[in-house]
Parts: sequence; structure tokens; C-alpha cells
Amino acid sequence: MKVIAVGRNYIDHAKELNNPIPDKPVIFMKPDTALLKDNKDFYYPEFSNDVHYEVELVIRICNEGKHVSPKFAHKYIDAIGLGIDFTARDIQAAHKEKGLPWELAKSFDHSAVISPLFPKEDFPDLNNITFSLTKNGKTVQSGNTKDMIFNIESLIVFISKYITLRKGDLIYTGTPVGVGPIAIGDKFEGFIQNNPVFICHIK
Ligand code: MG
Repeated sequence: MKVIAVGRNYIDHAKELNNPIPDKPVIFMKPDTALLKDNKDFYYPEFSNDVHYEVELVIRICNEGKHVSPKFAHKYIDAIGLGIDFTARDIQAAHKEKGLPWELAKSFDHSAVISPLFPKEDFPDLNNITFSLTKNGKTVQSGNTKDMIFNIESLIVFISKYITLRKGDLIYTGTPVGVGPIAIGDKFEGFIQNNPVFICHIK
């Protein structure tokens, strides 16, 4: 399986990092070795001094899809979860400046926290799902999928023009405003529709 992630999919987040509002989705990938499941601890990597949290709604793909049409896009999703796209912001900034790829900043081991996945049927409207992240008990990010620049179905249509989607693939759909640095000792907790879905301690 593969993990596909979307950058700059919320206007207020693009602005907080001084990035332009994109006219097409910004796509990058993480290998399956990036996944961090089952509330496991995250160990601060030695290669960065500025790892940031980015909470993101995650969808799971349930059918092979190439050139998916907008009408059928909803049929390619069977589950919803929540994740963190951990980002080595210092490495990303250096690579952005030189126009280099982001992989070392985005795709390192355990950079993709993932909650359990819940049936899509639990969510009557994919374009109105709230989610949030607390850091040491205080809410630092809260989002609603209705604020996405490119909604879930349009992401499936766009990505599948370039990359065949397969059963079990995950798409991290972008982070809302409020990203920030993590530190050893922090405790992060993720919520979908106010229900706790993951905990992640930074070690
Ligand atoms: Mg992200």
C-alpha cells in the first residue's frame, strides 16, 4: 500500500507558512514505513531540530482506481481516520529554498501517525467532518473538511489521473491552520467529531 498526502489544502494553513493558495492539489508520498499505529510513541529524530505536527483527516481507498470520474469518486472510499503528518520543517525549508523534493522532511520513519479507521457509513457527509488535535491537553488545531480547498472526492479524481489508487491506500488530506513544533515529553491527542481516536507521546 502507499500513503499519498496533500499539502496546502486549507487556505489559513497555506497563509501561515507564507505559501501561495494552490490552483491544483500539492501531492507528495510517504512509504508504508512512515506509518505509526496503535498509539505508539514517536521518537524525536536526530536529523531535525524543528519537527512540526500537522493533524489531517485520512481516507482509505477500497477499489483500484485510475481516471476516476467525479460521479463515482465516493465509491473509492470505505473508511475514515485521523493522522499526523510529522514534518521536519527545517529540512523542508532548506529543500524548498533550493527547489528540491520534500521526501527527507516528510517521509521519514514514523512520520505518519494513524488512528484506527472507521466505516465511511459513520459519516453522513464527507464534506462536513470536524477534527482536532490537542497538545498537552490544549487544542492546537481544529478543522472541518468543508474548509478544504480541494474536497475529498476531487482529490481522488485528481490523484487517480496520475497515480493508480489501490485497495488499502491512504490519503492524508491536508492540515488546517495551527501547525507548530513538537518537543520531547509532549502528548498529542486526536479527535474526530469530538471522539478521541489516537494518542501520541513524543519521546
Ligand atoms: Mg501535511
